[in-house]
Formats: sequence, structure tokens, C-alpha cells
Amino acid sequence: MRRKVIFGNWKLNKTVAEGVALAKELRAALPNPKCEVGVAPTFLALNAVAEALKGSPIAVAGQNCFWKEKGAYTSQISPQYLKDAGASHVIIGHSETRGRFGVEESVEDPDALKVFGDTDASVNIKARYALENGLVPIICCGELLSERKAGNTDKVVSGQIEGALKNITAAQVAGLVIAYEPVWAIGTGEVCASDEADRVCGVIRATVARLYDQATAEAVRIQYGGSVKPDNAKELLSKPNIDGALVGGASLKAADFLGIIEAV
Ligand code: PEP
Repeated sequence: MRRKVIFGNWKLNKTVAEGVALAKELRAALPNPKCEVGVAPTFLALNAVAEALKGSPIAVAGQNCFWKEKGAYTSQISPQYLKDAGASHVIIGHSETRGRFGVEESVEDPDALKVFGDTDASVNIKARYALENGLVPIICCGELLSERKAGNTDKVVSGQIEGALKNITAAQVAGLVIAYEPVWAIGTGEVCASDEADRVCGVIRATVARLYDQATAEAVRIQYGGSVKPDNAKELLSKPNIDGALVGGASLKAADFLGIIEAV
């Protein structure tokens, strides 16, 4: 039986003081959550939030990482530094760091969207380096609206997973988390229908079974992310292939995030 796992991705929200205040509210409300819970603050707030959550069951994640420990890598953060600051997890390959935004059809300069530049190859090297250095990766995948409309959802998502997992062992895959996040559902209020989200999570599980074996596929936890709210969480989380949620907007208010956790 896979334990459900709910993470809040705060993105570029919450100052240090705001992040600590939210962390304290969550800590007070969740002395003993029935699922795994975590939050991903900005790099700036991560250490203070981790301090506020020290000794609690709430984990802390980085929102990205680099594949070198230290050196002349302006703007980058390594898994070692994330760990040092109190993180145990790291989100890798979020559509926003891949430069794949839901608004791609309406943007005049598509290159502007590639500014963060993650690719399947960088997601893979980051995931491997995070694992080597003791962080649990939350590896994101998901199709654009144009890819869904073209009937390519399964191909896109399984290709991303195959790319992300190269040279990662079965034992490592069994312990990591995959987040299926259809790009068109992120931050749009347009949630993926629960049966369809479950189906695509099943495609991801089948991809893991093809690349590794059935036991690894049964062990890996697959979250759904994209406009998860307290009122749709129960339905999504009741599906057999959905093992949790990666929550953006609704993780910024304690009541909403707690509502989602209560739906487990
Ligand atoms: C996310 O950014 O991972 C996400 C799922 O955002 P939201 O819940 O706001 O759609």
C-alpha cells in the first residue's frame, strides 16, 4: 500500500516571514498527518521554514537544484546546500523550469518561455545528483494543451519519464516521487478530470514497469498536480493510480492546503 504524499509548491510566493508564519500554522494543525506532507518554499525562505518545521512531520523541498556541489555557477543551488539548509526533497523538472507554460499559444516570442531551460536530459542529471546526495526527487512531467489536442499526451509523458529516469536504479525509482502535471491545468483552475488523471498516472506506472519491473512500478508514488483544491481533492485522491498531489496556488493558504490533506 503506497502512502499518499502531498506537497505544496510555493513557487515565487511568501517572504521569509510569511513562509515561517504559514509553516507554523501548518505545524500546529498537523501534529500527526495521515499522509506524507511537505512544502517547497523559495530558496531564500527555505532555511527559516525548515527551522520552523524542525522535529515536525512536515518535510521541506527545494524547487530546483543543480548538478554540481559548488563553484562558479552563479544563481545555482546544489542538493548538498539544500540539505544543509534543511531540505529532504527537491522538485525537479516543473513545467515552469522547463519553460513550458500553459500560455504558450498566446505568447509572441516562444523563446522567451524557454528561459529556464530544463530539458529531459537536465532533469535526469539533476535527479541523479539529488539521489546521490540523499534528497528525494519529485520529478514532474506533463503535456501542453497543444500536445493533448494532437493526441500526444501518452507519448509526451512517457518520453519525459523515460528521459528523466535514465541510469537511475530500480531501488532509487521505488523511493522517488513522480508528479503528473498537465501544463494546461497548472494555475488555470481547469483541473484534469479525475478518470483521465488516473489514466495518465497509469500510463506513467506502465512506463516504469516497462523500464524496470512490476514491483518498482507498484512502489513508485505518482502525484497529480494542476488546480488541486479542497473541493476536488477527494475525488482525485480516491483514484487507484493517484498517490498524492503537488499543489501550487492552494498551498499558499493554510486552510486550503489543510483541506486537501484532510481529503486523503
Ligand atoms: C504546480 O505549480 O505544481 C501546480 C500544480 O499549481 P496549481 O495547483 O496552482 O495549479
